[in-house]
Amino acid sequence: MPSEPLTADHVLEFPGGYTRTTGPVIGRFLTELRDGRLMGVRTAEGRTLVPALEYDPATGEPVTGEWVEVGPAGTVTGSAWVHRPLDSHPLDRPFAWALIRLDGADTALVHAVDAGDSRALPPGTRVRPVWRAARTGHITDISHFAPEVTKIVSPIRTAYRLTASPSLTRFLEGVRDGVFLGCRCGTCEKVYVPYRLSCPGCGNPISEEVPLPDTGTVTTFAINNLPDPRAPEVPFVSAYILLDNADIPMIALVGGIPAHEVRQGMRVRAVWVPEQERTLSMSNIKWFAPTGEPDVEL
Ligand SMILES: [Zn+2]
Repeated sequence: MPSEPLTADHVLEFPGGYTRTTGPVIGRFLTELRDGRLMGVRTAEGRTLVPALEYDPATGEPVTGEWVEVGPAGTVTGSAWVHRPLDSHPLDRPFAWALIRLDGADTALVHAVDAGDSRALPPGTRVRPVWRAARTGHITDISHFAPEVTKIVSPIRTAYRLTASPSLTRFLEGVRDGVFLGCRCGTCEKVYVPYRLSCPGCGNPISEEVPLPDTGTVTTFAINNLPDPRAPEVPFVSAYILLDNADIPMIALVGGIPAHEVRQGMRVRAVWVPEQERTLSMSNIKWFAPTGEPDVEL
């Protein structure tokens, strides 16, 4: 009969802490840390090691006695996100362990970064130390690092009055009365909508007003996935609609049909708000809805 392997569980722990000497180089680094300064030590090759080490990890040579102040800000070179901090971790909320190359240093030190709810800390993020009020000469004299301030929210309010041109006023009067007013250029014969007083094609003044039907054809369209106060729901469709008898399309919403069913060449008709609710504005048209007629070849 096979027997279970014999096991015994142990814990190796120094509950009061394990006292060790630092040596002159790491001791200097920690003493400077207690004074709120971040210092690096120079190698014979001129590189600055932070945290300070007694030997250059690249060559094995002893470092020089030359010290330089670095940071306090630095750049994240790599990180790992901690979703569920352990009791022994420096922060009690999700954070990142990061490699941080302090300004002026050639190596990176490992420390915790409190990046809020971002759930990731991309390389290149600029961070600064958050110091503890009481310092003892330990790497935890820096409570953690925090990203530099890169954006603020500022309230904006601009009050302004928009004055409609005589031609736009005329067009909106038409829209109030349930008619799209276009105009015909006497020179190039093109019919434009909205109504205007000069031809955008040939530049000639226009005087002939042309009432247009409220039916047309979708020429191009876009499906929008961001909410808009004018749209019935998300996703919604905004489209260029060529009104019948017009030579250029105008932009409007398309409704009364799922967004993915809208197509080029689809026949549509304006859906007007009730007459008693109409104003001198384009909001008199809720949107354009399919007429059910066969699609048109564009
Ligand atoms: Zn013209």
